[in-house]
Amino acid sequence: MTGTLIVAGLGPGDEALITPEVTAALAEATDVVGYIPYVARIPAREGLTLHATDNRVELERATHALKLAAAGRRVVVVSSGDPGVFAMASAVFEAVEQSPRFAHVEIRVLPGITAMLAAAARIGAPLGHDFCTINLSDNLKPWDIVERRLRLAAQAGFAMAFYNPRSASRPHQLARALEILREECGPDRLIIFAHAVTTPEERISVVTLGEARAEMADMRTVVLVGNEATRRVGRYVYTPRRAG
Ligand code: SAH
Repeated sequence: MTGTLIVAGLGPGDEALITPEVTAALAEATDVVGYIPYVARIPAREGLTLHATDNRVELERATHALKLAAAGRRVVVVSSGDPGVFAMASAVFEAVEQSPRFAHVEIRVLPGITAMLAAAARIGAPLGHDFCTINLSDNLKPWDIVERRLRLAAQAGFAMAFYNPRSASRPHQLARALEILREECGPDRLIIFAHAVTTPEERISVVTLGEARAEMADMRTVVLVGNEATRRVGRYVYTPRRAG
């Protein structure tokens, strides 16, 4: 039996930001698999089984979803934001690579609006020129790599978006990241702390690097760092499209 596996992004929180393509896939699903807070966003209905797991081992969750699909179910794996940005899509392909028995499962990845783009849109256009995205969690990579990428990105003049800036188990990542930025950039560099964007708890603050404190972020915050030219215009922040 061949099922299908769809990996879908639910966007940053607001239901209006779920794409019609994802809504249609969810309407046809027999099974939805994902981390508890994401599955909680899917309304229950007849014929739909919700598999909410608090398992943080994404590979196991992906394998579970692939097994259901291989048994002929129509499975949707949900992520917040975009499923390809520090989320389930890569875990699904990793599981397929490891298990030839899943080679016949048809997989489709449906994009979503990722946190940094939702945050950027809220405040103006801080990512309007070249930028890069760094996951500050060192769960899946050594911290050395994070520091190196951050420093080189700052030297190269990129604006940046930091995902997973701070966790209860590792509270020091962002403090160290800010230290590196202070070594590489001036104190007036603009930093945006965007918490729970597009949800009722949304809170966005714009500060300078001199004012920035690690405590301004938590795990529901995406941190945007402007480039050298990023500036305020009225209550907005934007980065000019030209450089040099
Ligand atoms: N796939 C997701 C990212 C998962 S990693 C996406 O594309 O958005 C989880 C991190 O995403 C969080 O630690 C936070 O940095 C960021 N994030 C997710 N949703 C957010 C939101 N609504 N507001 C601010 N940051 C968010």
